[in-house]
Amino acid sequence: MSDAESTDLLSLTPDALDVALSDHFRARGQPAYRAGQVRHWVYEGLAADFEGMTNLPADEREALAQAFRLDEPQEDRVSVSSDTTAKHLWRLSDGQVVESVLIPTARRLTLCISSQAGCAMGCTFCATGWGGFDRQLTPGEIVGQYRASRRWAEDNGYGSITNIVYMGMGEPLANRKGVMPSLTILNGGYGVGARRITVSTVGVVPGIEELAARPEQFGLALSLHAPETELRGTLIPLEKRHPLPDVMAALDGFNEAGGRRITFEYTMIDGVNDALELVPGVAVLAKRVGAFVNLIPFNPIPYQPWGPSPAERIEAFRGMLESRGVSAAIRETRGRDIDAACGQLRAHALTELKVGRG
Ligand code: SAH
Ligand code: SF4
Repeated sequence: MSDAESTDLLSLTPDALDVALSDHFRARGQPAYRAGQVRHWVYEGLAADFEGMTNLPADEREALAQAFRLDEPQEDRVSVSSDTTAKHLWRLSDGQVVESVLIPTARRLTLCISSQAGCAMGCTFCATGWGGFDRQLTPGEIVGQYRASRRWAEDNGYGSITNIVYMGMGEPLANRKGVMPSLTILNGGYGVGARRITVSTVGVVPGIEELAARPEQFGLALSLHAPETELRGTLIPLEKRHPLPDVMAALDGFNEAGGRRITFEYTMIDGVNDALELVPGVAVLAKRVGAFVNLIPFNPIPYQPWGPSPAERIEAFRGMLESRGVSAAIRETRGRDIDAACGQLRAHALTELKVGRG
């Protein structure tokens, strides 16, 4: 077992990893190519420990295990839906649990990852929000979900992960210390194209600005849910700190910086935010920043009496957006039978249930 003071290689950006390994091997009088060997095991070999790095001498593997660790989350439980969506519950080194979801479609395998244990934003329609905030994830714990999921997907006939979305538990832009390096690592280390990675935010303005300033073309999704401040504020407490006009200005900046196409997520809740009178407002905002609109039927959660909008209303909403020149799609709900759908991720509650049952 490595001690807690050792450096987690999974949390280092590729450049920092090169420096750390080069220093380590230089101090041990080892040839420079050893760093490249380990780097290869981390990013290509997906090694889960140093023992498996078989082209290194046993002494060197031991010394690596003293100096570093590979802090990958452990699989606690996996549930596979009747539609083949697969949800993993990962146990972190301190016992916290987070979830990730693999969503296979005809041409893609999308991995939805968590950025925090819980979430402090308290959106009233979201199960994660109701569960409260536990702690930030490290870059390695975010990246670790990808490594472990990729291994699981390959072993279980799901093929290769093509896309990654930060739409699991947590608000990614409220954990910039964890999320920003994790983007660098997934893109620069594991070779996932920036255009295949999307960060979803409820509207953390400084975070959108930081993402806009990056040279890579990461995708951005804004959870809109209402086209004006008053209604949005009843669903999203953060609206009071970062009101919609400020969020829109940040999205303008994202576009000016040459960011890629923005997506709006709009969770459709029956009788709450699905009135057709709201469509023109949504259309104006979408056109302003060239956003594609994803309409998501609300997934009922235990804490609210709300239900999803009827299919006809969602279709009418979509049609009216299209007729105003805005591209919109209705997102198919996946993995509902295993609580893997948007807003149902609440690993904390699940574990309590498990503990309660002994
Ligand atoms: N915190 C980020 C990312 C995680 S939530 C964000 O809010 O964008 C991922 C998506 O699930 C968001 O678009 C969120 O609005 C949506 N969502 C949350 N609860 C939901 C529910 N009960 N039904 C449908 N979508 C929900
Ligand atoms: Fe957090 Fe996103 Fe859920 Fe809001 S919708 S509580 S920001 S995870």
